[in-house]
Formats: sequence, C-alpha cells, structure tokens
Amino acid sequence: MKLILLGPPGAGKGTQAKRLFDRHHLVQLSTGDMLRAEVASGSTLGAQAKQVMDAGQLMPDDIVISMIEGRIEKPDCKDGFVLDGFPRTEGQATALDSMLARHNARIDGVIELAVDETALVERISGRYACAKCGAGYHDTFQKPKVAGVCDSCGGTDFTRRKDDNAETVKARLVAYRQQTAPILPYYKGKGLLHQVDGMAELDEVTKQIEQVLTKIKA
Ligand code: AMP
Repeated sequence: MKLILLGPPGAGKGTQAKRLFDRHHLVQLSTGDMLRAEVASGSTLGAQAKQVMDAGQLMPDDIVISMIEGRIEKPDCKDGFVLDGFPRTEGQATALDSMLARHNARIDGVIELAVDETALVERISGRYACAKCGAGYHDTFQKPKVAGVCDSCGGTDFTRRKDDNAETVKARLVAYRQQTAPILPYYKGKGLLHQVDGMAELDEVTKQIEQVLTKIKA
C-alpha cells in the first residue's frame, strides 16, 4: 500500500508513520529526515537545506522530487511506503503521480491529520528525540517512562530539532497554509482523501488511521 500523510508541522505525521512501519512494514519516506541527513553529512545540498530549513521555508521542488524518485525505486519500497512530509506543493503532487505512473503504480490513500493550529507551537517546541534510535518524545505529552532514558533503546542522549523553535514554526505554518494545504482539494477530487482527528490521543489517531486502511483495502 502506498500512502501519504498530510498535515502541518507538529500534526504527528512522523510518529504515525513510524507506527505504520511497525504494524504494516510500510517504509517511512520522510523528505525532512533525508534533508537532515544531508545537513549532517556536510554536503553542498546539506548547506543549502540548512539555510532553507532554519528559515522555515521549502526546498525547491526539483530537489525533493529527485530525492523521492531515487528512494521509491529501492527494493524495500516495493511492498509499500508512507510518505511523510512529501508532497508539499502542487508541483510535487503532480510529479509524484507521474513518477508512480512510470512504475505502473499509484497512491492508494491520503490521510490528513487535521489539527488546531493554535496548539501546534506548544506541541512542536516541546518535542525531542533519542539521539541513538530516533524515538520521539515530548516535554509534556510523551515523557519517557524513566526520565532521561529512551524507552525503546535505553539511550540517554536526546536531540531537539533546530527548526522546532517558535519563530521558525510560525514560518513553517505559513508555508503549510500557502503551499501545502492547497493540495488537499487535488486529492479530494481524486477520491483519495481521508481525514483523521490529529488532536486526539496518539493511540486514538492510530486507531482512526487503522480504520482508514481497512476502508482503503475493502
Ligand atoms: P519536516 O521534517 O517534514 O518538518 O521538514 C523539515 C523541513 O525540511 C521543512 O520545513 C522544509 O524546509 C524541508 N522539507 C521537508 N520536506 C520538504 C518538501 N517535500 N518540500 C520542500 N521542503 C521540504
């Protein structure tokens, strides 16, 4: 199954994508993670990505499109994937359709995590992740069972994203409203759009996503 998770920053796309991998082995394809890996590698692309990400803006379409195209051709994506953070513009959405059509494939469903924007700044500025395994936590909403120790791998080092600060989050929300939200009608028109309540508890969101998957498979 090939899915897209859509929603503003902080809606819970990354968390739910990881759960989709655990439950259904759908490979998580996060353009944000790919760009952060470029930044960490010190490449020329990484230097450009760092500037754009720190400003809360979007990378040029052609760059993220070719990153995704290279990735979905890998064997591990054959049985399905979930796109997290892509597409983010109309150009990316149409390019995705064309690239999948070249592989005789198509998107099976688009899941929108609908959230109240006023809650997002608090949600995002409190989040952090295990530096070793990437498991996500939150200062208020999702603390590790033992303070300072990762539930998943026992790691004790944690990191916070540089673009998870209030000012950058506001710019990211503007980018979402102006460039990404307009692609929702595109998928609605194709009958692919399903909405879940991204403000609900994590497990409840997962449950609603499972219900959508059942509907898509039917
Ligand atoms: P994310 O981890 O999805 O929140 O993405 C972090 C940042 O990476 C975004 O604020 C953008 O600067 C950049 N980015 C990630 N995915 C895309 C995309 N599909 N198109 C353009 N820029 C992106």
